[in-house]
Amino acid sequence: MITQAEFPGWPGGADVAVALTFDVDGEAPWLGEGPEYSRRLTMLSQGRFGPERGLGRVLDLLAARDIMATFYVPGHTADHFPDAMTAIMAGGHEVAHHGYLHLGSEGLDAAGQRAELERGLIALGKHGIRPIGYRSPGWELMPETLAMLTDLGFTYDASLMADDRPYWEVSGAAPLLELPGHWSLCDWPYFGYTPYHGGLLADPAAVERIWLDEFESARAEHRVVTYTMHPEAIGRGYLIRMLDRVITGMLDRGQPWLATHAEIAALAVPPGTQPQAPTRAAG
Ligand SMILES: [Zn+2]
Repeated sequence: MITQAEFPGWPGGADVAVALTFDVDGEAPWLGEGPEYSRRLTMLSQGRFGPERGLGRVLDLLAARDIMATFYVPGHTADHFPDAMTAIMAGGHEVAHHGYLHLGSEGLDAAGQRAELERGLIALGKHGIRPIGYRSPGWELMPETLAMLTDLGFTYDASLMADDRPYWEVSGAAPLLELPGHWSLCDWPYFGYTPYHGGLLADPAAVERIWLDEFESARAEHRVVTYTMHPEAIGRGYLIRMLDRVITGMLDRGQPWLATHAEIAALAVPPGTQPQAPTRAAG
């Protein structure tokens, strides 16, 4: 049975908590698929567009809207795109862990998973970052990964989908807060495309409607909703315009608290603790 996470309410009387999150995958997923990709310049350049071009658009939009976001960064991106790291941190955003070479946990034994986690920590550490959150590459997580995360001092994960509300994973040494996402709330299934893996290249107007409908649902339930994006996809010119319209739509419809995953996690009442009364007025 799922242990729901309790929250005392959202700051400022907000009726919903919204996390805009960005996975700055860069070249790592391609290099992680195999050494042959190191010579496939077009594939690599498609990934490189994220930190080199799309990220700037994302950061400009967030700054214009005064929104703090969470950036999940593979260690490889941190090592090879230091300017991207500087720009993210200059914006005051949260940086969280997203593996090193974006290797899916399902293809690694326990030692391999641990090495990915530790290499990622070292790479982020070179930028002075000690992440408390983790999102597994490709959203694949193995049972043993949860214990490794608590062991390494992570307090939340954003890889699992058993609920659309935050919940506690209690299989590790300590409770780990799960901040769930979903493929339907991710840009990649709609807009990620390669000739080899296919892709929809969907109509942004349709995705805008889906994302705002989910926002309305989250608002009605006063819950958290996480959107997952990739600068190499959402950072295309026409899609940044879509994201801008989605943010406008949220602000027109309700009173969202646009927050980082760390800010949301900090409000979760630890399991076994008595929840406090909501701080906001009902209604
Ligand atoms: Zn990723």
